[in-house]
Amino acid sequence: MNDYQHSDSFDNLFELYQEVIIDHSQHPHHFGALPQATHHAEGVNPLCGDTLTLYLKIENAVIRDAAFQGHGCAISTASASLLTDSIIGKSIDEAKRLFEAFHQLITSEKETAADNMLGKLIILAGVKNYPARVKCATLAWHTLQAALRQDAQPVTTEA
Ligand code: ZN
Repeated sequence: MNDYQHSDSFDNLFELYQEVIIDHSQHPHHFGALPQATHHAEGVNPLCGDTLTLYLKIENAVIRDAAFQGHGCAISTASASLLTDSIIGKSIDEAKRLFEAFHQLITSEKETAADNMLGKLIILAGVKNYPARVKCATLAWHTLQAALRQDAQPVTTEA
């Protein structure tokens, strides 16, 4: 683990986007319940104390709407906000591909062609330099997977 050997470019990238992350955490998009939800799931990240409930309205395998509620750190809240922005209007298959690309982005050193599909999710790329925060950033995505599977039990990042 090279936790303390960040390259300058990664640090700059994180700082560049830090204000956007803070803005999303203070004014999250799609925050609240979704009465017409067809799918929902709960997620917990015990390491940080982040909890969230994600709601989806799915019709004909397309995510028509999404919303979330919960308590979490700035990274987990910003990630959930960005997730809802990113998946609304996407098919379930597209959302799963987005999850894979996002997971790659924040856990791998390499840039991949899939980075192109991430859009503003790239804001969270700098999280990979802070391994303790990766689970904060992926919590919403694991919860999305659980919601698509219609899991009744809360999903945890420590599974
Ligand atoms: Zn957190």
